[in-house]
Amino acid sequence: MIKLSRPDKPQFLTDNEATWNVALTAAVEQFGGYKDIPKAQKESLTKHYRHDNIKLPLFAAAHDKCAYCECKPAQGGSYIQVEHFYPKSLYPEHCFDWHNFLPVCARCNLAKSNFDTKLTPIINPYEDTPKEYLRVSLAKLKPLNDKGRVTIQEVNLNADRLIKIRTELMTDIQILTEDIAEQITEYHEEQTPTKQNRKKLKLADLVERVEDFKQPQEIQSFFCEQIIQDDDDYLAAKAILAA
Ligand SMILES: [Zn+2]
Repeated sequence: MIKLSRPDKPQFLTDNEATWNVALTAAVEQFGGYKDIPKAQKESLTKHYRHDNIKLPLFAAAHDKCAYCECKPAQGGSYIQVEHFYPKSLYPEHCFDWHNFLPVCARCNLAKSNFDTKLTPIINPYEDTPKEYLRVSLAKLKPLNDKGRVTIQEVNLNADRLIKIRTELMTDIQILTEDIAEQITEYHEEQTPTKQNRKKLKLADLVERVEDFKQPQEIQSFFCEQIIQDDDDYLAAKAILAA
């Protein structure tokens, strides 16, 4: 999970949210609660938040990744949905609240379900800096504090599918850092500045390929950044390139 910037609220939402809220509130009152509104009626009252004018800018600003598990539909994830950080079933007044929307994959959405995040807060990637709550150990995320622990548990951030993807990425990165280690050894063995510079170019290319894994548009970028920043060979290469 990485920190995200919330895009500007779509004009379409600004123009319509009051009308949608009035209709939903009336139904909640009429039936005595959100959960008691008949299914078809509930669907027609709430579906607006999934409109393309709302979901497309929301998804694009998160690099079309799930805001929680950092998967993409084609890379270990399921399709992305507009999720309500505060569940709309518990807080229907936030059903059309732009600040309550998160782009989240169907699997994370299902895991989180109706968990009451007002009562027990979890990480909100728009408001919180995830690395203050989570760390990496092998292919797992581990909590740094209570909020991190609840988030891992309620969103299932160590699901088997995620462990599998992270293990593959860890291997891909390790292959590159082993190449880096070899290049560093050869760099130190070179006798002339010209030959050393040639090795430096190769090192720079490998470092760039490693750093690609932690770019925000890539899947599991939080996880990859954490393992890269602790890698001794990567750090040694950076030191040589900075010299
Ligand atoms: Zn997800």
